[in-house]
Amino acid sequence: MITRRKLLKNLSAVPVVGGLVGTGMVSACEFSKTDSGAGTEEATRNFFEELGVTPVINAGVTMTFLSGSLMRPEVMAAINSTAHDFANMYQLQDKVGEKIAEMLNVEAAMVTSGAACAMVLGTAATITGMDLKKRRQLPDLLDPRPEVIMQKSHRYVFDQAIPTAGAKIVEVDGAEEMEAAINENTVMALYFNAASGPILHEEFVAIAKRHNVPTFIDAAADVPPKENLFKFQKIGFDLITFSGGKMIRGPQSAGLLFGRKDLIEAAKFNHSPHEAPIGRPMKVNKEEIFGMYAALKAYLELDHEKEWQDWLDRIERIKTKITTIETVSGETHVSPGPANAFPSMLVSWDEEKVKMSPKEVSDALKAENPSIVTNIRRGRDGAADRLSVGVVLLKPEQVDYVAERLADVLSKAV
Ligand SMILES: *Cc1c(COP(=O)(O)O)cnc(C)c1O
Repeated sequence: MITRRKLLKNLSAVPVVGGLVGTGMVSACEFSKTDSGAGTEEATRNFFEELGVTPVINAGVTMTFLSGSLMRPEVMAAINSTAHDFANMYQLQDKVGEKIAEMLNVEAAMVTSGAACAMVLGTAATITGMDLKKRRQLPDLLDPRPEVIMQKSHRYVFDQAIPTAGAKIVEVDGAEEMEAAINENTVMALYFNAASGPILHEEFVAIAKRHNVPTFIDAAADVPPKENLFKFQKIGFDLITFSGGKMIRGPQSAGLLFGRKDLIEAAKFNHSPHEAPIGRPMKVNKEEIFGMYAALKAYLELDHEKEWQDWLDRIERIKTKITTIETVSGETHVSPGPANAFPSMLVSWDEEKVKMSPKEVSDALKAENPSIVTNIRRGRDGAADRLSVGVVLLKPEQVDYVAERLADVLSKAV
């Protein structure tokens, strides 16, 4: 039995998540005491050790092969507090989508299983609309094949999402070619935000709009700054995607797709929980949908200036520790973006004095347990390579640990 006191105590631990009301709240709390494992053996069970998986300290950037980012506490709270009750997935996606759309000043939004999924769903949406027969056909039987326009300089690994949805990529080079390439089979024009020209955002949107072709922009890794979450709808893109599991620090298998309402509806129509569409294998579970919402809300409410200052302070702390070693110097480097636009530290030294290359130092740190992952920044035009130490994904207590380990490896090479 749960007493009122216990209930209130538990309620205060439950984050305010849309949709968690009424009797659902009580049962969620009742279960969460045991299921969350707090204070039980489960809480201390070390799955990494049990399975022989090496824990990684990520002194780099968000990378999918390193499990992306660590979910915010708000996300974990949302996942834990919603895991104990069923929900109608159509309703959940609609309600969360409405809230996200409101937060981002767009007509509509949905949670996908990541930006790559959003690209498949967005493409599918522009092909099928709400046509059930077409939805069943994807990705086959389409003759002539739907076409998606991309700039030649924007081609990248993730554009395989387009043929995955049944469309063919038509490459263009420059505005004139784009105009000429648009025909009755064109369903969409895709812009990769981190690529450069020759057609810039505004012109790209203007050309597509003249021909009534929906535009899609992939800005998956392009926060910070937070403003980027609002930028592309203002320019006029019809569909926009961001990863959920990068710097927004939501679930790794979640992402955002937002923009024009009819297209978002068609994207949902091509997604789970519908049973047959192209997006069915790209399901997002209930907890992650709640979690993505909580992540975005927390991210938007964050004091970004303070966070940025904290990152700079972390660099200074590590720098102070390692620059006591002869010839070692550290430089704060802010990546201009659009992806990974945050500070990291570039470390260099005289290899006559510290007899290891940046690659050897990086390898030595990687071989430790816990493994510390750093990156190498290649020197251009004959300049030496440097060790790049990222700070934005470190847990607070890992900052000094990374500094110590790095100092130790470097000083042993003197
Ligand atoms: C990470 C990334 C993706 C894929 O995003 P997921 O959320 O992992 O599916 C797509 N495009 C770009 C530019 C990315 O950086």
